[in-house]
Amino acid sequence: MSTPARFDRGHTDDLISFLGASPSPYHAVANAAARLEKAGFRQVAETDAWDGTSGGKYVLRGGAIVAWYVPEGATAATPFRIVGAHTDSPNLRVKPVPDTGSYGWRQVAVEIYGGTLLNTWLDRDLGLSGRLTLRGGEQRLVHVDRPLLRVPQLAVHLDRSVNVDGLKLDKQRHLTPLWGIGGVREGDLIDFVAGEAGVAADEVTGWDLMVHSVEPPAYLGRDRELLAGPRLDNLLSVHAETAALAAVAARGDLPYVPVFAAFDHEENGSQSDTGADGPLLGTVLERSVFARGGGYEDRARAFAGTVCFSSDTGHAVHPNYAERHEPGHHPMPNGGPILKVNVNQRYATDGGGRAVFAEACERAGVPWQTFVSHNSVPCGTTIGPITAARHGISTVDIGVAILSMHSARELCGADDPFLLANVLAAFLEG
Ligand code: ZN
Repeated sequence: MSTPARFDRGHTDDLISFLGASPSPYHAVANAAARLEKAGFRQVAETDAWDGTSGGKYVLRGGAIVAWYVPEGATAATPFRIVGAHTDSPNLRVKPVPDTGSYGWRQVAVEIYGGTLLNTWLDRDLGLSGRLTLRGGEQRLVHVDRPLLRVPQLAVHLDRSVNVDGLKLDKQRHLTPLWGIGGVREGDLIDFVAGEAGVAADEVTGWDLMVHSVEPPAYLGRDRELLAGPRLDNLLSVHAETAALAAVAARGDLPYVPVFAAFDHEENGSQSDTGADGPLLGTVLERSVFARGGGYEDRARAFAGTVCFSSDTGHAVHPNYAERHEPGHHPMPNGGPILKVNVNQRYATDGGGRAVFAEACERAGVPWQTFVSHNSVPCGTTIGPITAARHGISTVDIGVAILSMHSARELCGADDPFLLANVLAAFLEG
């Protein structure tokens, strides 16, 4: 394997911190923004008038972030180079009337978010995080990172056939976490969370709360060559893209305007004001063109020359279920980033995109692999095809091969995150 140019295990160590500090999409974008601030980027408000000055800027909206760096000498028609990802992960989210329970147990009512691998939430020590909206509209992040909740699995003695017939979980009845003993009291959970956030409960007028495993990410394996942790799908990409943008911005003179865009709500189809199927990315790119004095012609020229790498996780070959994978395509952890192909446009990659990816890997000195689905196993999708279709931007789907996708605790190669970051930086540099 070639020696990566810039990022090494220090990158993966920082990813471990990022994962642990980002239990919700809101935390993920705040932590990405903090890293960009350190690299000299400044937040701009969507409600302000924008100027066309050079330098790094970013917009935050809920669980989404778009950041871009305008190099000295960029014209209004200078094309963009975009790296995209998503900030959300499948999990359990708190229902509007959270306080429930029975038979003397205190419980929290939850709704299933995205394509959760339900069994992986059983018998884990769970914390709670998200954001509170206060009277007047101010929003406050909250992160209770201690064992607070648990979805206990039924004992084998009360479910004798579970190991033969498989575990069957009813989403409504079987996944309600308990968080103590005692009677159900209306307002109990929000009172508690407000206290944790240091605000008065009657100041809290809205909330978006979700549960997370409190077990920290960890290196794993004989030679610690693997990384086990929550939300690798897709905070691994969010983190790598943040690092790549910060690295290329430090270089300054660039032939393109590099952009990092991370969206919420990918796990349920991306249709929201912070999802990839909303106008956020297109609006930011257009405003950037117009702020540099451009008109519609410049916008069209810039978009036509733009390429996007959409990075998300893919499936590494599972040693116990190899028959589920395409026999000629077996991505391995630490084999380098994967190029994701699906001719039915579940991924946006085509031959031209393959060439751009191969060239970026070559310049970064990073090996790469390809992923394609077994014909009898339906292919997943990501923000790539949506970005391509919505904005008319040439898009390449790439990512990192992992095991246990959508589990509460996933597994990847410990070297792949920094190999990905190197390829992203090489691509953004043009
Ligand atoms: Zn994903």
